Amino acid sequence: MNKIIRIAVDGPSGAGKSTIARKVAKKLGIEYVDTGAMYRAVAYKMTSEGIGPEEGERIEAVLKDTVIDFDQGVITVDGTEVESKIRTPEISEAASIYSALPPVRASLVQAQREIGHRKSVIMDGRDIGTNVFPDAQYKFYLTATAEERADRRYKELVERGQEVVYEEILEDIRQRDHNDMTRVLNPLRKAEDAIEVDSTHMSIDEVVDFIYDRVV
Ligand code: C5P
Repeated sequence: MNKIIRIAVDGPSGAGKSTIARKVAKKLGIEYVDTGAMYRAVAYKMTSEGIGPEEGERIEAVLKDTVIDFDQGVITVDGTEVESKIRTPEISEAASIYSALPPVRASLVQAQREIGHRKSVIMDGRDIGTNVFPDAQYKFYLTATAEERADRRYKELVERGQEVVYEEILEDIRQRDHNDMTRVLNPLRKAEDAIEVDSTHMSIDEVVDFIYDRVV
């Protein structure tokens, strides 16, 4: 069967979207696109070139000359792999700011639509079901309480040997939720036809199976 399927997974930071979408993609044998990584890559490029969020024209010009892509699932900027550079707290914060800018959204949404028109995808982000692919066949809105999301991130960072403070992580998550939900352009919200999955008391595999069972 050659029919293209599109699965949208939206939700707030730390809800487990990327881990889950990656696993579902593998089970279904389709492409996984991490749109958050694309916003992070833009934030990385702008901050490393010293371009502030208020510099609209420069941002637009730089975006035209920047190629953001995935090489076997790993994010690249102008052909260079940037995966480890974009997963820092500084870039998390910057991505949340730059992602609200109209030229950034226009450019990345266009790139995401191009990917989804070529092949079947599961794409995770904030506005996939509401804006990038409002006609996606399957839409999921993945949530968990802010405390649970902070707790998961805290454990993940401690396991990686980082020294972190739970309250700071919780505050950071709340701040990013606020930025994502209140921005003017494509704010985070549940699409009317999305299935909401509250993963607060679910394991990763339970959520993967829940999504997989609804798609096959
Ligand atoms: O999902 P992740 O936390 O990696 O996303 C980084 C940032 O990119 C988010 O805080 C959000 O502001 C932005 N983003 C967005 N739209 C998307 C995906 C991510 O605005 N579709």
